[in-house]
Amino acid sequence: MFATLSDRLADTFKNLRGKGRLSDADIDATAREIRIALLEADVALPVVKEFVGAVKERARGEEVSGALNPAQQIIKIVHEELVAILGGETRRLRYAKSGPTVIMLAGLQGAGKTTLAAKLALWLKEQDKTPMLVAADLQRPNAVQQLQVNGERVGVPVFAPEPGNGTGNPVDVARASLEEARRKLHDVVIIDTAGRLGVDAELMKQAADIRDAVQPDEVLFVVDAMIGQDAVTTAQAFLEGVGYDGVVLTKLDGDARGGAALSIRSVTGRPVMFASSGEKMTDFDLFHPDRMASRILD
Ligand code: GDP
Repeated sequence: MFATLSDRLADTFKNLRGKGRLSDADIDATAREIRIALLEADVALPVVKEFVGAVKERARGEEVSGALNPAQQIIKIVHEELVAILGGETRRLRYAKSGPTVIMLAGLQGAGKTTLAAKLALWLKEQDKTPMLVAADLQRPNAVQQLQVNGERVGVPVFAPEPGNGTGNPVDVARASLEEARRKLHDVVIIDTAGRLGVDAELMKQAADIRDAVQPDEVLFVVDAMIGQDAVTTAQAFLEGVGYDGVVLTKLDGDARGGAALSIRSVTGRPVMFASSGEKMTDFDLFHPDRMASRILD
């Protein structure tokens, strides 16, 4: 992820090395290069425009600091603007003040939701929480079993409808899971909801019904970072249909160009909270905008 963008930006900055002072023409040329690099990385057009505009304005206005040469100065500005579009501060989970914290996951089928649910459970366990997973995806025949397998891998119990009752109502399952969590003293409940191959009204309604029934502390929209511009379109559809507090980017280990990661915060106004980056259960962490920006500019 981001390899092409990183290379393109590095080339752009290389051209500035050795220059004593940047002329307006140098700044314009650099801005153009950055624009092309971002567009090639599949960053959404309005985000590119805003980003390049901000870099240009700052590059022109900024006092040249004695400690930095022009190339370093631009890199610093680009770094800071990258951090800004990625959301600035790391957004941490909000836990409930009393009773179990309820986290609901929503997203398309194949986004990596079931895998992510288990990764998140393990991550919470490592922070001395006692999570429980909830199989409220009753649409796909194997979803419950898949969550159970993943739950076993990380040693976290899975609340699921009784076998033979696979056509149960996901809203009832989600509601019942909260009682179970209180009874068994789980302090975090992670509810996996049904995904579809594409956005549809029924899927949205079901997710919204679960949300209304359990009033989650956090609704997280899970999206595959490899699907490029489609990730942004899907993110908008889920924002309107279900609403969410934060985004989880999955498959950041893939070879996609990274545009989704850079666009989603600006387009939806919701922060990326977690990054999932591989098949291993430990390939998962909070999303840190400053580290991501450094990775892009390294
Ligand atoms: P769901 O349909 O949203 O529940 O998606 P799954 O959790 O079943 O994941 C779909 C596929 O993507 C599976 O083959 C996972 O192993 C794979 N997958 C999930 N997360 C990641 C990730 O971060 N990186 C990679 N490379 N593959 C992933």
